[in-house]
Amino acid sequence: MKPRLVSGIQPTGKLHIGNYVGALKNFVALQDSGKYDCFFFIADLHSMTEEFDPKEKSKQIEDVAFSYLAAGLDPKKSTIFLQSDIPEHTELAWILNTITPFGELRRMTQFKDKSESRPENINVGLFAYPVLMAADIILYDAKAVPVGEDQLQHTELTRTLARKFNARFGKTFEEPRPLLADVPRLMSLDDPLKKMSKSRPGGCLFLDDSPEEIREKIKRAVTDSGKNIICDPVNKPAVSNLLLLYSSISGISIGDLEKRYEEKGYAEFKSDLAETVVAALLPFQKKKRALKKSAVIAALVAGGKRAEKIAKEKMKEIRRKTGVCQ
Ligand code: ATP
Ligand code: MG
Repeated sequence: MKPRLVSGIQPTGKLHIGNYVGALKNFVALQDSGKYDCFFFIADLHSMTEEFDPKEKSKQIEDVAFSYLAAGLDPKKSTIFLQSDIPEHTELAWILNTITPFGELRRMTQFKDKSESRPENINVGLFAYPVLMAADIILYDAKAVPVGEDQLQHTELTRTLARKFNARFGKTFEEPRPLLADVPRLMSLDDPLKKMSKSRPGGCLFLDDSPEEIREKIKRAVTDSGKNIICDPVNKPAVSNLLLLYSSISGISIGDLEKRYEEKGYAEFKSDLAETVVAALLPFQKKKRALKKSAVIAALVAGGKRAEKIAKEKMKEIRRKTGVCQ
């Protein structure tokens, strides 16, 4: 049996190029490697920890589902499903809550960052987000979790909780390992010290942006002082970020890009980067427009059935081990 891999993206807004190079592109490569039994879900329950308009939510969910398929996730090869279709995620999350130390959650960087950026909505769901994430993963006995760097702390907690549960109730869960993409943390175009995030749309380059918008955003992206186009994340965070993006999208190494732009200025570098991004996103955008809603729904129904079967089996075992709700 192939090792199982689980990951997801929240339907909190339009997907950006950071989600692509840090997650989605890697999801497709892992799927196509044929080495894993891949599970990719839409993290709609997680997305409820952010402020949202209920009328918009189903559109946001649909958009992630369309993006998954347009990027190359294939329901014949991967199990693609909606988190809220499988209530076992929340049931296991509750059980894991009871073995999660409060102090561990209080240390989580994502919780601290998000509570600082929007103090008006620090809800318990946001605090317990990493516990639900642990449940999402260990419910399926996943051995690997492709994530961006921002989720490393949460995957470490997942391992801790799996270990703790196993020690208390007997071996039940795998301790999953994170799999990082080649750009695990793409920074914002307007501030190279902040992660590109759906919740900060001003710094995002969206996968659905038109060629004109892409050109304009890359032209306006902040740069560093000095003219050199070199990768030096400490002294030149902005240009290093653009180089990482360029390298990931084009497949050209950072070293070769540095050589190519040795004698050239930011204008030419940015213009070439913009054209590379435009060309790379074109097939995705075309495919997304051509996708039929019925095909997307069919993928989620089929994936939901497969996920449900595994989740139900596992939940039976978990209940038995805890001695509760058998
Ligand atoms: P939000 O602001 O709502 O949290 P987000 O942009 O952080 O949105 P998520 O849905 O939280 O996106 O994350 C989906 C996946 O994309 C995760 O695996 C995460 O690690 C990865 N990811 C998110 N932002 C980046 C980024 N800037 N660079 C690389 N990977 C990223
Ligand atoms: Mg996030």
